[in-house]
Amino acid sequence: MIPNGVHARRFSAIGLFDCAAESTAFDTLLTGAAPDRVDARRRRGLRATCASCFLILMLSVCCYASDVLLIRSTETASPEQRQLELATQFYGVNLKVITAGDRNYGSPLRAVRENTTLGVAIQADALASINQDKLLGALRGRSTPLLILGVTPETRSNLLSAWSSGAAVGAQPLESPLPLHYVVGRVAGITQQLTDLEIPFPGNNTVYFSLTGGGTAQEIISVRNDRKFVPVFIEADLHGQKVFLLSRTHLAGSNAVAAATDTIETAFAEIAPMMMFIKYAAGERGWHTLHHYANLTIDDPWLREPYGDLSYQSLLTEMEKHDFHTTIAFIPWNYDRSEAETVSLFRNHADRFSICVHGDNHDHKEFEDLASKPLNAQMTALQQSLARMEKFHALTGIPYDNVFVFPHSIGTESILEELKTYNFLATVNSSNVPMDRVRPPGTPLFALRPVTLSFADFPSISRYPATMQNPNGFLGINEFLDNPLFFYTHHDFFASGIDAFDGMADRVNKLEPDTQWRGLGDIVKHLYLVRLRDDFNYDVLTFSNSFDLDNTSEHSLTFNIQKQESGSPAIASVSVNGQDYPVELREGYLAIRVSVPARGIRSVVIQYKNDLVLASISTSKDSLRVDLLREVSDFRDITLSKYRLGRALTDYYYKGYDDKHGTTARLLILACGGIILVLFVVGGSWGLWATAKRKKAAAVTPDILRNAKIAGVAQQK
Ligand SMILES: [Zn+2]
Repeated sequence: MIPNGVHARRFSAIGLFDCAAESTAFDTLLTGAAPDRVDARRRRGLRATCASCFLILMLSVCCYASDVLLIRSTETASPEQRQLELATQFYGVNLKVITAGDRNYGSPLRAVRENTTLGVAIQADALASINQDKLLGALRGRSTPLLILGVTPETRSNLLSAWSSGAAVGAQPLESPLPLHYVVGRVAGITQQLTDLEIPFPGNNTVYFSLTGGGTAQEIISVRNDRKFVPVFIEADLHGQKVFLLSRTHLAGSNAVAAATDTIETAFAEIAPMMMFIKYAAGERGWHTLHHYANLTIDDPWLREPYGDLSYQSLLTEMEKHDFHTTIAFIPWNYDRSEAETVSLFRNHADRFSICVHGDNHDHKEFEDLASKPLNAQMTALQQSLARMEKFHALTGIPYDNVFVFPHSIGTESILEELKTYNFLATVNSSNVPMDRVRPPGTPLFALRPVTLSFADFPSISRYPATMQNPNGFLGINEFLDNPLFFYTHHDFFASGIDAFDGMADRVNKLEPDTQWRGLGDIVKHLYLVRLRDDFNYDVLTFSNSFDLDNTSEHSLTFNIQKQESGSPAIASVSVNGQDYPVELREGYLAIRVSVPARGIRSVVIQYKNDLVLASISTSKDSLRVDLLREVSDFRDITLSKYRLGRALTDYYYKGYDDKHGTTARLLILACGGIILVLFVVGGSWGLWATAKRKKAAAVTPDILRNAKIAGVAQQK
């Protein structure tokens, strides 16, 4: 099915090169000393990373994936080619590269006419060798967009004018000592959730277009310095053909694709125009989601009204008014102390409130590095967390999601593997990289998704503070990339008012009106991507081991599902709507084929083998240290938070939290300060009471003399 060997060769070069670095590390590990459990896990991690590379490779060159064609002038890959490779990889389409004039690779025109060709990109320096009439003829009657990329001041003006329908007549360099910014315009079908967004530009110089002003060009992206806006990515209409023109934004020496890609904003800025073009060209045939999802998680509270600054009843009113959902990251230690009224509130509003698992005792870093706390002890805590949550469910009738939020910060990769073994759905934390690992090297797309399977093949998801300042770039890019949004906070976020999150919810809902606010479990069950195949069925790439496939169409569809799966831990069963389903594990991934009737849903559940017997696990609270710690935490959240001095003490404690040596001292100061505050409050109350009593006694004295009965009542109060 592969039309010619070009893209297969290109992709083997890209995919295998990326994996080679991992393989070297993998081999080195294999030749090392006798492996211990940690090393074994590390090897599994590396295998998983290689499997991940392999999966991307397989999915990209799968015979059903469609193509974007790049026509270039020389055998040398340009910076734009590298950016296109990343964008096509992200959207799961092939990049077919043809060097103009090289007949060994077949005729570019024949490739343009292929039904699987979704878009055509031409390197600006190859324009002179392309017959425009013939190319436009080959594209006529199709909706295949054309991209001219890598335009520089050397690009001939007449060529630029001819391919932009007279809109652009030249290109010039822009250098700036000050930081530059990308500013996205408003172009239907292209800019989508990025419309009007401003994000930092990667670099201090670029090339921009000189426009005639009389053409039909629309400015998709401009670059702004402190004085002016200049267009770098435009769209023109060429005799009915949609043509995009992109200047060389990364000049020689500033190719930033391999540079810092820490945040989604910086990673996206590297390849923003390519991502916009490929998403537009691929449409349904590129990886996308069926819905947009968002969630707010509040860590720590148990079910009492109020919990510190959090009133569940008032929050419900805000959620209904501003349409959002709250998950409580629930500490299992609290399983048996819920208040009946709050339990009813949760049970009656399951569409607005949900529960997930937050540690076990939450006694500081209970899921610590393995040297500080052995894996066995951590596994015991994990098992107890589940046993306690089952009891919570039995006592309250409230279901809980098998999604784990680590107390304070994410644990090790080993504990992620245990989470997978115990059939948790995912872990959600402020970082998706385990504490003993680093981001996989050579993965510039890593920051573009909040979820990764790079560690123990287990879905690890990044979440973001609800207090985030200037969230526009973050929100716009995530929505554009079809990523779910995970916000988190604590009860004190609502100290300023129970409406504290309303603004963020409003922004999200305005930016993407299709956003569905759900519990963490529900979102994880929809954590998969789909793409339309040539046979009108769908490929599915799932990150989750338990997911609901939605067929939103009016006819039956077959979903060809693939999931990265190393085989460790062993799979106990795979079921579809409760029926066992045979599956095959091959070369690092699991493949399932499921038919879903029109408007139907099929629930796929992968279960892993484990020795968990919940009934045999103790849920008792037999540690005085933990009991004391939880009581102090309650005192901090519920009592201290009422007073300014109490809040100041809590702030002081948390400011020094990461300073390990200072933690104990700060905890002591918090406790002492709290005791002083309590004495002050108790003393003050007693003083007020005594004063009031004295005054009242003085006032009623004449009455006592007159009426002994009334005086008796006054004294009882
Ligand atoms: Zn917590």
